[in-house]
Amino acid sequence: MSQNETKTIVIVGAGQAGASAILELRANKYEGKIILVGDEIHLPYERPPLSKDVILKPDETKIEILSEQKLADLGVEHIRGNGVVKINAEAKSIELKNGETIAFDKLLLATGGAARRLPNFDALGKHVYTLRNLEDSQALVPVLQAGRRIVLIGGGVIGLELASSARFKDCQVTVIEMGNMVMGRSSPRILSEFLLAQQRLAGVDVRLETKISNCQLEGEEVVITLEGDEELRADAVIYGIGIIPNAQLATDAGLDVDFAIQVNENCQTSHPDIYAAGDVAIQLRDNGQYGRVETWENANLQAGIFARHVMNVEHPTPNPAWFWTDQLNINYQFVGGMAAAEWHIRGEMKAELAAESSFILFGVTDGVIVGGITINAAKEMRLLKKLISKQANFEADKHLDMSQELRKLVK
Ligand code: FAD
Ligand code: NAP
Repeated sequence: MSQNETKTIVIVGAGQAGASAILELRANKYEGKIILVGDEIHLPYERPPLSKDVILKPDETKIEILSEQKLADLGVEHIRGNGVVKINAEAKSIELKNGETIAFDKLLLATGGAARRLPNFDALGKHVYTLRNLEDSQALVPVLQAGRRIVLIGGGVIGLELASSARFKDCQVTVIEMGNMVMGRSSPRILSEFLLAQQRLAGVDVRLETKISNCQLEGEEVVITLEGDEELRADAVIYGIGIIPNAQLATDAGLDVDFAIQVNENCQTSHPDIYAAGDVAIQLRDNGQYGRVETWENANLQAGIFARHVMNVEHPTPNPAWFWTDQLNINYQFVGGMAAAEWHIRGEMKAELAAESSFILFGVTDGVIVGGITINAAKEMRLLKKLISKQANFEADKHLDMSQELRKLVK
């Protein structure tokens, strides 16, 4: 498709993928009309700071991705606080909440996801929170006060990042996780155990393999009964138990959806002029399986794939998948595959919590480096990405030898 044939691109969802798609379209010389439709009232903003700096340093944290001026400079019409309620795939148009209809040549669905709900907690009506958007994060600022008893349900990224922010604010923190490890979706066991130990050393009471049998309000307290009848009393409960992709629009429009919106390698849905990117998409991989990735980098990557496909520009080979999380004094970055057969440590994985502790893990399968982790060693991440991209052989005598600089081992 040449840009002459594409006069209007509509992007639904003014989040990470939506904003990134605009930048990528213009960078790839798309000169047609771009309409960005968001159901939030805000300018596009980044979510990673919502569990960290927006809570810890609300006055000095900037999260905007595109300012009003930048959107104007890029020639984008931004419709805010007026979400899309219907897609008419055949007529190639969308309908907004206020009843307005907009026609498109190409449509990008970048609608993200919503916090998976726990209806029995929601039914309590107060002292129960989730975290997905700016308002959710701002609502937590007055909740996380010194001495408050905070129960976090879910030991994933939201649970542990909020546990960290709550400890920085001197709250009493308990994390309830159903599974037998924390960060189960984003860490191999060896690192999950390290993170668990760090949280416990920081005073977080982490309960694994723990199920909740009941919850109720008693005055201003939430009383949580665990299976086995132990009771926990909390001033506030925050749960982060995963997301549900915002895919209903696509389902209603008859697109192929399997929990998330199915897209091919070009981020096209089952309708060739409708694309999806970011948390809402599940993409066909080289191995013939569909995979979903809920990261900041993936939202940007898929937005780029969409933009280049519309502009008929070849995709560069992507870097291996990468994400980061900041918890306590730990910057943890992960690249490549989680399912490596062995993990090898470069440096010392110290038990005690220390901001200056740093180490690297190499994930190795059949002698090849397939995954990499840096703990407080962000500048080495670039080298790990290279090693994984090159499918480099793991050489313990070199890669684990701290007297040899990693950068000299990566050609
Ligand atoms: P979003 O950024 O969620 O944007 C989707 C937008 O679409 C939203 O504004 C939504 O309101 C809007 N929308 C939905 N339905 C409609 C509709 N019908 N009409 C119009 N608009 C609609 N990733 C990392 O890699 N590292 C991190 O440290 C990290 N921290 C995170 C912290 C938090 C608290 C959260 C919530 C996420 C974090 N992530 C992190 C994940 C990352 O932010 C997401 O993967 C990324 O935002 C996904 O981008 P997206 O564009 O798909 O969705
Ligand atoms: P998540 O990472 O999927 O973690 C959810 C955790 O909750 C899992 O460990 C899950 O266990 C557990 N769980 C599920 N149901 C439970 C229950 N009823 N009781 C107790 N535990 C339960 O999801 P999340 O932490 O909610 O994060 C939501 C989204 O925000 C994701 O898209 C995530 O990627 C994003 N986010 C990312 C970052 C980051 O990358 N740094 C930071 C914050 C948020 P099982 O796995 O056993 O089901």
